[in-house]
Formats: sequence, C-alpha cells, structure tokens
Amino acid sequence: MSSEIMKGNRVQGKLRAPKQTDGTRVCEDDTCETVLSRYNKRSHCYAHTPTRFPRLRGRIVPEN
Ligand SMILES: [Zn+2]
Repeated sequence: MSSEIMKGNRVQGKLRAPKQTDGTRVCEDDTCETVLSRYNKRSHCYAHTPTRFPRLRGRIVPEN
C-alpha cells in the first residue's frame, strides 16, 4: 500500500480571463466611427445595430 498522503491540488491552468478584443473596434458602418466597447459583442454601434426592436405600441391613442 502506498503511504503517500493525498493532498488537495490547486486548480491547474490559467485563470479564466475575461473575453477581450485586442485594440479598439469601430462600427462596421463605413460612415460611422463610433468606437465600440471591447465588451460589446456587436460589430456595430448602437445606432447601426441591424436588429431592430419590434414596434409594440403602434396604436394611436385619441387625445381628449
Ligand atoms: Zn455606427
């Protein structure tokens, strides 16, 4: 039998680093030079993001 004592090993490997993109990124729109946040996963700025929110309130409320 082995007399070796079981020791708790520390977690091997590197610590997980936050995802970052090297350098600065700019909106992909040619006419836009908005610098995107390195944490922004999108390739466009807020104004040029292709995804549009659906219009939920399209009903015209008559004024009284
Ligand atoms: Zn843009």
